[in-house]
Amino acid sequence: MELHKQIITSNQQIAPNTYILSFKRDFIFAPGQWIAISLHLNDTPRLYSIASGISNDEIMILFDIKAGGELTPNMATLKKGDEIFISNPQGSFFGKSGKGWWIATGTGIAPFKAMLDSGLGKDKKLLHGGRTLDSFYFENQFSEALGENYIRCCTREKGDNVFEGRITEYLKKQNQLPPDEKYYLCGSSEMVVETRDILVDKGVPYENIKAEIYF
Ligand SMILES: Cc1cc2nc3c(=O)[nH]c(=O)nc-3n(C[C@H](O)[C@H](O)[C@H](O)COP(=O)(O)OP(=O)(O)OC[C@H]3O[C@@H](n4cnc5c(N)ncnc54)[C@H](O)[C@@H]3O)c2cc1C
Repeated sequence: MELHKQIITSNQQIAPNTYILSFKRDFIFAPGQWIAISLHLNDTPRLYSIASGISNDEIMILFDIKAGGELTPNMATLKKGDEIFISNPQGSFFGKSGKGWWIATGTGIAPFKAMLDSGLGKDKKLLHGGRTLDSFYFENQFSEALGENYIRCCTREKGDNVFEGRITEYLKKQNQLPPDEKYYLCGSSEMVVETRDILVDKGVPYENIKAEIYF
């Protein structure tokens, strides 16, 4: 994979284990796409969804530290002026306008932030699942843009206007899910598989479900 150099403009810690890495945008991309990142040219790069809008001056990457991971513990130590290597934008998890559901757990919220910041928030409903209340990244932006259509599902803490439990439990409780809308899923393979099965069971046609699996 061909990689090119970028200079970090900031690396902000936004939760105990989670960071937003930024660098100048010098390419075009479609909301929902990802780039590969490595710290050295010979390292095996890892994949990250772009979390910023298509017209923003900077590219934002939302990542959490994987204990024992090769890249992310080092990525967390990056500072303004440090260099990284990135690929061209890739992937086909494209955001579309029109009615739809964005469903994410953890850092799987990243492509939906890119879609929101690229003007695709209208008529969208967002379900975001997290263990703790501080894991609802970009909460203010989503809340302001989507209002009641922004639903946070938390498994380990209680909060105002926060559904207690997993997104899968939230979905199971819905009497009806509109079958003709698009459902975009992003997160771990377990979450994507379990959510897909619930949607299909509730009558959503398979072809209306699109998924990006983080592994
Ligand atoms: C399309 C796509 C987009 C993604 N976008 C994002 C994003 O926006 N944000 C984000 O945070 N993540 C994203 N991911 C996930 C991300 O690419 C990596 O999973 C993660 O960041 C890798 O971090 P790492 O190199 O530190 O860990 P790795 O070195 O890959 O290790 C991951 C975990 O596996 C364990 N491990 C490693 N090797 C072994 C082994 N041999 N045996 C047992 N355990 C092992 C490690 O201890 C660690 O806990 C995305 C993935 C995909 C596929």
